[in-house]
Amino acid sequence: MAEKKGIIVVVSGFSGTGKGTLMKRLTAEYDRYMLSVSMTTRQPREGEVDGREYFFTTDEHFEELIREGKFIEHAGYCGHYYGTPRDFVDRNLEDGKDVLLEIEVQGALQVREIYPEALLIFVAAPSIEELKKRLNGRGTEDPETIARRLERAKEEVKYIDRYDHLLINDDLESCTRLMHEIIQSAHTAPARNTGFIQTIREDLERE
Ligand code: 5GP
Repeated sequence: MAEKKGIIVVVSGFSGTGKGTLMKRLTAEYDRYMLSVSMTTRQPREGEVDGREYFFTTDEHFEELIREGKFIEHAGYCGHYYGTPRDFVDRNLEDGKDVLLEIEVQGALQVREIYPEALLIFVAAPSIEELKKRLNGRGTEDPETIARRLERAKEEVKYIDRYDHLLINDDLESCTRLMHEIIQSAHTAPARNTGFIQTIREDLERE
């Protein structure tokens, strides 16, 4: 077990904001971050690999894992289940890693309930016009799916002020750097250093 536990970093944002690319860049540049791989019941997109982007499974299996308490959180999104496997997160936090969860809003709020010290970051595209351009440009979803995702964005926008930070993803490099700085400064919060505070209190008692 590491001397200092890592923190959970929840990253949400409307579909198409580029948060997946941002997560990949962050984990490639800094080895202190571990990206949690979620489980989902949606179909893999072209190029997605089971166990890399997601663990793909069936509704029945997903529901069984819910009953067994294997998820930290789970949510329904556009007709499919998505959930964060518990073991991976707990193991890496103990190892002192900061664990990134790229999840939607309902899941983010569940995480905040269970881990009040989690850091919540919302990533937005510079404008809705740009968001639509990115969604259409990536060519992985049909127009009906894109429309559902934009509808979902209308719901999610209501919760942005429950997050600790809002990041505008206009440039990948600067956004990656800023996210790293935000996470590392979050480590200095007293609430995330209760072990250290306890130790110096006890040491002072003995003086
Ligand atoms: P996509 O289908 O585009 O990969 O993901 C759809 C949405 O589900 C995104 O907003 C993504 O962040 C979210 N998501 C991915 N994994 C999880 C998860 O484990 N839990 C929750 N609550 N949302 C997730």
